[in-house]
Order: sequence, then structure tokens, then C-alpha cells
Amino acid sequence: MKLFRADRLIDGTGAAPIEGAAMLTDGERIVAIGRAADFGVPDGAEIIDTPAGATLMPGLIDVHVHLAYSGAVDPDGFRAETASIHYPAMALRAARYARETLEYGFTSVRDMHAPGGTIIDLRNAIDAGLLEGPRIKAPGLGLTVTGGHMDQAGFGDMMSFRDMNAACDGPVGFRKGVREQLKRGADFIKLNPCVGNRRDERLYRMEMTVEEIRAACDEAHEQGVMVGAHTSGGPPLTAAIEAGCDTVEHAHWIDDATLEMMVERGTFLVPTLAVNEASSTYVLAQPTASVRTRRWAEASEDAKWDRLTRARKLGVKVAAGSDAGFFLEHGKANGREIELLVQGGYSILEAIHCATAVGADLMQIEAGRLLPGKLADLLIIDGDPLADIRILRDRSRLTVFKGGRLAARRLGQHAAAKS
Ligand SMILES: [Zn+2]
Repeated sequence: MKLFRADRLIDGTGAAPIEGAAMLTDGERIVAIGRAADFGVPDGAEIIDTPAGATLMPGLIDVHVHLAYSGAVDPDGFRAETASIHYPAMALRAARYARETLEYGFTSVRDMHAPGGTIIDLRNAIDAGLLEGPRIKAPGLGLTVTGGHMDQAGFGDMMSFRDMNAACDGPVGFRKGVREQLKRGADFIKLNPCVGNRRDERLYRMEMTVEEIRAACDEAHEQGVMVGAHTSGGPPLTAAIEAGCDTVEHAHWIDDATLEMMVERGTFLVPTLAVNEASSTYVLAQPTASVRTRRWAEASEDAKWDRLTRARKLGVKVAAGSDAGFFLEHGKANGREIELLVQGGYSILEAIHCATAVGADLMQIEAGRLLPGKLADLLIIDGDPLADIRILRDRSRLTVFKGGRLAARRLGQHAAAKS
């Protein structure tokens, strides 16, 4: 058993912090939480006294990452990577990225698609204790229509991208696609029903048919897994939710009626503010960017704040997902999403709630809240994130426990936590 004591404890539920807190863990679970003054020290418990002014809080959760990609700042970067790197090499690199992500305080991530389904194997290696990394939920390959989003159009017939995506067509094809990914070991299904501009001026476009989306969602739900959908917005997004998608990613353009429907159905919104910021900044700084690309970047920047304000007001479940791997470095950049939620009008406590408890609900894991019975995935932060949210991205202030076990120690000269 371990008894943690800290000046402040944020439990992830959105409740006000407990001052002068103590938390008892037994193995991988939390047993009790309260004020240190009311806590005896159980026989044999290891006492972990944190530095003065330190904060205990749940490990962070990023529900949208791509551990297979490097975060190269270039819209074609991921395409080039899949053309030039063997999938086994990608998996080795992903192991490093997973460790970095954990060391920056993210104890769980949902990976949103990886060539060759490599992140399923990474997940298994971490779960088996072979590698250090966050808890991972992985979909294997994303399902997309032939030539659709992520199906690597534009390389010509001479290039083939085996197992880059699962290209499916028709309801039967998508049903089979779902079955294949689940057979491979996927935790959930990634769909690409609705995309941004590729060939014309529209901000969003339906890429899958409603029948295809419904077939994929029905099969996934029948097998007890969720469906996460890459979306852009508008009526195609509304249709994707109606057809059964459980989480909608990016989703810049959403009207109030759709947000209300999401509240009713319990659909999660993953606004991916960080990748939007990084990609728009990149595009708008490129003198050679096409008018269409610029227009999309500008329009999506405006839309994302408006949509977030309305989603918060209407009570939509918003989870923090950065899209690290695209334009964003693993580890260092994941926490930017939390800062941007604050910039978008969430209080720091609310933004932490999005990046802990809501993320855990989306991933269907028993983490994200410091409450009795939950997994002891937690951070000791040297300082108070409620005073300055940016300290969450300072690795030198973080000590990370995953399942009650010391996983990463802060880089400062002295670490109070003992392994
Ligand atoms: Zn993504």
C-alpha cells in the first residue's frame, strides 16, 4: 500500500480541489481519499510525501493521437512517412513516442489509426510489461471508402500502400471491414464518413453513404465496441451521428440541433484544437498554399471557437484529443489541447475534467478520476496547475504513476517519490 500526501488534490470530476489531501492505494487501485489530517497510516504502508505546494491529480488522457506518425510539420508529411518507412520501423519508433507521451503525464491514449495495425501490437507489448507506455486503445486500420480520406490518393498507380488503410465499399464491405479489424484485435472502429475539401470549394462532404455508416456502426455495436468518426461538419456530420457514430473528431461545423442530439445520445465531441492551430498556422504561412486550402484554414479557425462555446453551453461531453503525430510532437505537444480548451472558455478545472474523467469515459477505462476503486493512474505536479495551466507541460515538474507503480520520475534534482 502507498499513502500519498499532497497540499492539493484535484480528483478529475470537476469538483473543487481538496487541500491538505491524502490518498491510499493498494496495488493498482485507489482505496481511499480524504484530508491528510483524518488519515491514519496503515501498517506497512509506504508514505509518499510530495514537495510543498505540490498537486496530486489523475494521469492525463489524450483521446486522439497517432503514435505511428512523427508529428512532422508538413501536410504531406504523413503520406511521405508511409511511403518511406517500413511498418516494423514505424512500430519501433511508436514505442519511443509512447514512452515520451507517458513521461509528459499522459497515462492513457486512444490511437486513431496506424498503418499495418502496428499500435495494436504496441498496446499488447505495453500491457504485457515489455515496454513502458500509456494505456492504449487502438482501432487497427481506419475504414474508408476506396480513394477516400487516408487512402493515399495522389501517389499514382506505381505505389501501393498495403495495409495502410482498410478501403471498403458498400454496407457489406464495411461490415466485413469492421469484422476484420476486430479479428486483428482492435478496441474500437475508426470511420471516415465525412471530410473537408479535397476537390472543390465545399467545407465538408459526405464520403461514406449513410447505409455504409449504419452497417459499420451496427456491426461494431453488435460486437460491443464503439465507433470514432473523422468528420468535418455540416449535414454529413449530423447523418454520421444519427447512423450511430459514438465519437466525432474535429467536427468544426456543428449546428445547435446536432449538439443537442449529441447530448441526448451521449455522443462525445473531440475538437482537436491543437492540430487545427498547428496546421492552420502552417498553411497560412505558406505563400504557395492554394486559395482553397487557405480558405479552409481560415474558416475552420473561426468555426472551431464558436462550436466549442456552444458545445460547452449545451453540455456536450468534450474530451481532450490533440491529434499528436500530425503537426504535433508526441509528449511535448499533447498538453497544448488542454491550454486551448481554457483559451476557448473552459475553466482550468473543466479543462482538466475533459482531459481526465471525460477521456476515461470515452475510452471506457476505470481511470481519469481519483476516487476509491479507480485505477491509480496519477500525477504528482510540483506546483499548482489551477494557478497556471502551462505547468502541466513541464516534464521537469511531473512524476507519473500508472496502475499504482512509478512510471516516470520528474527530471528535477530531487524526486520525493520512491519506487
Ligand atoms: Zn487524427
